[in-house]
Amino acid sequence: MIKAYINGKVYTVNKNRDWAEAVVTDGPRIVYVGDNKGAEEFIDGKDAEIRDLAGKLLLPGFIDGHCHPVMGAFFKSGILLNGLFTLDEMLEEISGYISEHPDKEYYSGKGFEEVWFVENETMPDRFMLDRVCPDKPIFLYGTSGHVCWCNSAALAKAGITAETPDPLPGRSFFARDEEGNPTGYLLETMAASMVTSRIEVIDTDEINSALTEISEDYAACGVTSICDMGGFGGMTDYMRSGLIELVQNKGLKQRFNGCGVMVNSIGEIDEGIAVTKDLNSKINNDMCRFTFVKMFQDGTLEDMTAAISEPYLITGTAPETFFSDDELIEAGLKAAEAGFDINIHCIGDMASHGLVKMTEAIREAGHDETRIVNSHSTYLFKGDAEKFGKLGILANTTFVWHAAFEAAAGVLSPELPPMYEMKTVLNKGGRIGAGSDYPVDDFGSEPVKGLQMGCTRKMYRDDIYPGTFELEPESEKLSMDDVITAYTMSNAYQMRMEDKIGSIEVGKYADMVILDRNIFELPVEEVYMTKVCETIMNGETTYND
Ligand SMILES: [Zn+2]
Repeated sequence: MIKAYINGKVYTVNKNRDWAEAVVTDGPRIVYVGDNKGAEEFIDGKDAEIRDLAGKLLLPGFIDGHCHPVMGAFFKSGILLNGLFTLDEMLEEISGYISEHPDKEYYSGKGFEEVWFVENETMPDRFMLDRVCPDKPIFLYGTSGHVCWCNSAALAKAGITAETPDPLPGRSFFARDEEGNPTGYLLETMAASMVTSRIEVIDTDEINSALTEISEDYAACGVTSICDMGGFGGMTDYMRSGLIELVQNKGLKQRFNGCGVMVNSIGEIDEGIAVTKDLNSKINNDMCRFTFVKMFQDGTLEDMTAAISEPYLITGTAPETFFSDDELIEAGLKAAEAGFDINIHCIGDMASHGLVKMTEAIREAGHDETRIVNSHSTYLFKGDAEKFGKLGILANTTFVWHAAFEAAAGVLSPELPPMYEMKTVLNKGGRIGAGSDYPVDDFGSEPVKGLQMGCTRKMYRDDIYPGTFELEPESEKLSMDDVITAYTMSNAYQMRMEDKIGSIEVGKYADMVILDRNIFELPVEEVYMTKVCETIMNGETTYND
């Protein structure tokens, strides 16, 4: 089927950043890009469907370069606490869910507000949950997805006692009382997985239907590819069968690029590579592929587990990275030798500094082709932003986090380097990519909000998050072309698909999004109001408003 999209404002994101009026697609591919007259000539005598864009903006489809849709699907089928701010509100929601689902063998959920506990100078503990769920296991992840809160039945079922050693002392561990008994608060994935992986019963049908809904929501946001950054515990097994079957039989509305597993320490690297290899051998095409190894170098700022060079003001301590420099080099070389790209979660400047040293070693060993991504890129070590271009490190960031929070002033030292030095990375020849980290923020998966916040470095609306303001320095603000490129071409590069997607050019897949207004001409504070009119993937409409 030939379709001609005419009378549009087409921002191609090609090398010259050309604008066009018309695009013609034939089946899944783009066959013409140019002016209206040329399009008419191109389809002359052919059976073609004409689509009048009436001046709307046509962009390459958005690529979410960092998200967790499979983990999101798992959470979606449990208790969602997002938007509840006090302990009483959270417990009320949990107890309501339990009485509506009396037959479940265990309960899981996501989104408890870590900040409430910090502000009230307490920590989540098992006794709070025992009040509403005394007999069955329950575990809940915080908003960041990095900390877990469980009840006594969950600890008992997982066999976690005072004698159980911490998996990564000081970095991923069980909070304990004075006698050493675990209190039910688990910091970072390794400790959390020791409980959740012994309880989780993955229901493939439930996850498949939740993932299908997530895929539809993503299409409504203009997203045509998603890069899944891994899940925990039983999710790897789900990917081996449930996910691959879903992609092959029913299909998702996005291309899926994943890793299958998260690697949190040097002891997990061999298994991580083996899992990625196995998944890669099962499916490797333009709709679904597993091409990189995902590692964690640290935690998060909200949980005070990110590895920053200046101690947190509240605790006076600065956690270490999950890998020492030598360990990260060893793990990185193993992944590169196995032929995989590398993606590392780095929030603190000490975390990303380790990634820079690892990259130097990988390049020295001759692996020029390994694509290395610094995920989040919140703090870069002083002077490192300038090295990303030369070393070929892609800085992936979450634009909806580009804002300053009043609450952080009491936690983060003013001596730390500036946050999100993305313009510096670009100015020195580096690439930046964009991701939502879905399901971390409820609005994060909408690229238009990210586009705005990457340009303004403040919350997309002044009234929704009181206590936020513009993030300094102003020199790190990005242009509209910078943020669109991050969400399209740069993420296509991360997926090793830059010759197939990411721009509107002849020969590429017809992955496109039609927006109701030209975001280049609006005051940038209004970009968040932009509506997605239609999303197209492989030449097929996946969403139509
Ligand atoms: Zn993530």
